[in-house]
Amino acid sequence: MWQCPKCGREFNNEKQRHSCGEKPKTIDEYISVQREEVQHILHKIRDVIHAAIPEAEERISWSMPTFWKKKNIIHFAASKNHVGLYPGPEAIEHFADRLKEYKYSKGAIQFPYSKPIPYELIAEIAKWCYEPKIIIENTDFSVKMPSK
Ligand SMILES: [Zn+2]
Repeated sequence: MWQCPKCGREFNNEKQRHSCGEKPKTIDEYISVQREEVQHILHKIRDVIHAAIPEAEERISWSMPTFWKKKNIIHFAASKNHVGLYPGPEAIEHFADRLKEYKYSKGAIQFPYSKPIPYELIAEIAKWCYEPKIIIENTDFSVKMPSK
């Protein structure tokens, strides 16, 4: 165990590189400052999303690892007991049937570390978020006249 004298965080490796109180600027940095025992999970999530949508750019947005292509496609974030996936409300609605065993809300799904992480499902969700889709929000096709 090595403790950083500046921020007090503990690491298995001596002089572990971490972002010492600063906000991480890359997904690698973000993962490197998480608890050792969850880092491999976060790396794997990043890898499966990257494999699913290789065209997307990796960045930090809203302080979370983010995949971006002209807009934010999907985020994930490490919490104490779970990884949060933030694919947006439409994706959650679309995948709701397959999320029954997880906690989810309008914009976020929680995958607890205590259960196997469904990497394939995460990849599928990422792909779904990335694919262009036509969302017909209402079926009122009547022509709206511009108001004067
Ligand atoms: Zn430090």
